[in-house]
Amino acid sequence: MSTPQVAVAMDWGGTWTRTAVIDRQGDILWQSRAPNPQGGSKEEYLTNAERLLATAIEQAGGPVAGIGAALAGPVEPTTGTFYQPPNLMVLDGVSFKALWEKAFDVPVFVGNDANLAAFGEYYFGAGKESADNGRPVKTLFYVTVSTGVGGGVVDRGSVFLGANGLTAEIGHTLVDTTDAALVCQCGSRGCLEAMASGTGIGRIARAKLASGGFSDSALASLGADQVDSEAVFAAAEQHDPLAVSILDGVVSALAIGLTNVVHLFNPDMVVLGGGVTDGLVKLDLLSQIHRQILDRAMSELHKDFQLTSSRLGDSVGLTGAAALVWDQLGAGG
Ligand SMILES: [Zn+2]
Repeated sequence: MSTPQVAVAMDWGGTWTRTAVIDRQGDILWQSRAPNPQGGSKEEYLTNAERLLATAIEQAGGPVAGIGAALAGPVEPTTGTFYQPPNLMVLDGVSFKALWEKAFDVPVFVGNDANLAAFGEYYFGAGKESADNGRPVKTLFYVTVSTGVGGGVVDRGSVFLGANGLTAEIGHTLVDTTDAALVCQCGSRGCLEAMASGTGIGRIARAKLASGGFSDSALASLGADQVDSEAVFAAAEQHDPLAVSILDGVVSALAIGLTNVVHLFNPDMVVLGGGVTDGLVKLDLLSQIHRQILDRAMSELHKDFQLTSSRLGDSVGLTGAAALVWDQLGAGG
């Protein structure tokens, strides 16, 4: 019997669950997306996920090599156990590996979504593109700047996990130690996530408007519930001074966080993904972030890295989950 050439991938986020059938080249042959149960019980979530996986296996139309799942939250890598995921708290302590291997009788591999996004970009996205252009990447650091801020690092083809699989949480590195530092969801203050995430940008804009003195801003004409990160990006495109100054703060916070990354990990590629990154790319702000990092980096070799945006977009988690399957099963698997 020939070796199965497709994997089933799942990207389980806070709001959506995506599933796909993906081949060894990282190409998506079929995909689907479904909203998570609203305020559902643990059983509802699990039943829903199993149904989505069963559908994907059916769509594969033959034997699958394995299931890879990217989960939005901390994951213990050997058992695939979810630990205190802030957006999916009802699933705390569930071991997906054991559960799904029993249900589907195929190997299951589970990881944190940002770690696997780094894996996806390394093998099938920006890292692959660079290798194809004659510049293979050794160490890739991926940052998702979205509702939250997360990260992952791949070094010479392997995800660097840390002792418990919880490394590269760049969103909760401190970038502001002043008295004005913003409170973060994690309970700390001055985290990068509080300053640069989509949620953070909306919150900063609403706080500035509430403090008064910005009546000339287009954002002041919106209701408070309409002032979110998308509104800030739209206003910045029209050169609105308040919106531009908020995004200056985002650029500066990301540059500080990434300067720390450059010194800690010495990556030769930094990839930014997520919705906030899309907005920054549109306004051509990635080059500013790059320049600010270069201004601070301590040596020429630390400065020797590419800064680029995600090539895989919304599919980065799915593709990374498939990359994990192919990696774990090995070339001959
Ligand atoms: Zn935090």
